[in-house]
Amino acid sequence: MELLYNSTRDAKVAVTASQAILKGLAGDGGLFIPERIPKLDVSMEALGAMSYQETAYEVMKLFLTDFTEEELKHCIQSAYDEKFDTEEIAPIREADGAYYLELFHGATIAFKDMALSILPHLLTTSAKKNQVKNEIVILTATSGDTGKAALAGFADVPGTKIIVFYPKNGVSPIQEKQMVTQKGDNTFVVGIHGNFDDAQTGVKKIFGDTALAEEMNAAGFQFSSANSINIGRLVPQVVYYVYAYAKMLAKGILSEGETLNVTVPTGNFGNILAAYFAKQMGVPLGKLICASNDNKVLFDFFETGVYDRNREFLLTTSPSMDILISSNLERLIYLIAGSDAEKNVQLMKSLNTEGRYEITDEMRAKLNDFAGGFATEAEVAAEIHEVYEKTGYVLDTHTAVASKVSRDYRKNSGDDAKIVIASTASPYKFTRSVMNAIDSKYDAMGDFELVDELSKIAKTAVPNAIEEIRTAPVRHDTVVEKDEMKAIVKKFLGLA
Ligand SMILES: *Cc1c(COP(=O)(O)O)cnc(C)c1O
Repeated sequence: MELLYNSTRDAKVAVTASQAILKGLAGDGGLFIPERIPKLDVSMEALGAMSYQETAYEVMKLFLTDFTEEELKHCIQSAYDEKFDTEEIAPIREADGAYYLELFHGATIAFKDMALSILPHLLTTSAKKNQVKNEIVILTATSGDTGKAALAGFADVPGTKIIVFYPKNGVSPIQEKQMVTQKGDNTFVVGIHGNFDDAQTGVKKIFGDTALAEEMNAAGFQFSSANSINIGRLVPQVVYYVYAYAKMLAKGILSEGETLNVTVPTGNFGNILAAYFAKQMGVPLGKLICASNDNKVLFDFFETGVYDRNREFLLTTSPSMDILISSNLERLIYLIAGSDAEKNVQLMKSLNTEGRYEITDEMRAKLNDFAGGFATEAEVAAEIHEVYEKTGYVLDTHTAVASKVSRDYRKNSGDDAKIVIASTASPYKFTRSVMNAIDSKYDAMGDFELVDELSKIAKTAVPNAIEEIRTAPVRHDTVVEKDEMKAIVKKFLGLA
């Protein structure tokens, strides 16, 4: 049965999956959302015997109904291949009573690879299916990890260009090095003087600029988004929650139907929304625990029903979660409003003008699937330290937020269901913060010295993604003010 996608801001919009992937954002500024969440049509037991790629097909075919079997399998095979350093793609590690679903075995050692390794293939397939002749220009704002993962995914993909904006002083040195050394003649990386929200707001403005869109079209270009608002990002992320449950069942960690809680270190709310979709599809998930760092706008939202971005933006050691506007939350708001686009528009308008909105009690009652928690900087460091001392397993800073929040949740709620923690980055990506948490003596060492030291104490090999950038030359050094973003886009495309 064909599944269409509505806009969260206009119920009358109904497009196919490939059209939603191509457009990224709906014309009215809304996000595409499937008109219903499909149910899995294979048993968990059967899924337990499948590879990651086979599981991906079983999940994604239900969402991307206008892709042929051949097209979808081709996309999946092109994405989840030897770019990942393990055949399991997303292995599960037990440490200190928690289960860590390692989503960082792809090209850029962070969970964004799970979706961004397949998005370019979904996008170019979608373009073909819709007779698009224009070259596709990917425009992305990043808090660090999306940018590199998108660059790696799109570099030298024919028929595409990619432009990435990042906050010049808001990403880790290794994240920045990863991006500015990116190869590929179709890649452009730009630092901005501002934070991630400035970058994201700027990108949204460019997307909404109809005069620019016309100018682009005349020159044979059209924009698309690789940000986590693209349904082509969200759908592949549902896969690993299905996979994790099925594998934990197959290994006897879970018994049939046993409830599994999930903790997700959250920023833009994409990853945890994918877990929510997996639950709606029939995976026996219990609480979806939304873990925040000191930028705890989501924690406050789950506590009070008020979303309020009017607060200080804090830079933390988990920069990919330093976000005050969680774009994907709009999809949840739309759903708990009873798929009411008008109600959603009201709230988003209020967010835009007042920087806040409050949901109704009726809507709050539908948030029962979720629990919120947060971890301070000191708690994150202590968590890394403690798990390492107890088990030898080294957590990255983002995963440590979730790990600490899981610990607190268990203690305070009395809910003792097993917990799987979305482990979103390799510790090698945030080496300095991780090593400092383990022992302050590391503070004096250089970045790559720390990498070698981490390899010794964690007894794991330095990932390729890090080896590569040790000596790679800087290829991108443009830095602009936040109001110059449009001009630089035009310059790159030869329109100015
Ligand atoms: C992007 C990212 C997150 C946040 O994920 P969202 O889907 O934006 O909530 C958490 N951790 C890491 C390492 C990330 O790269």
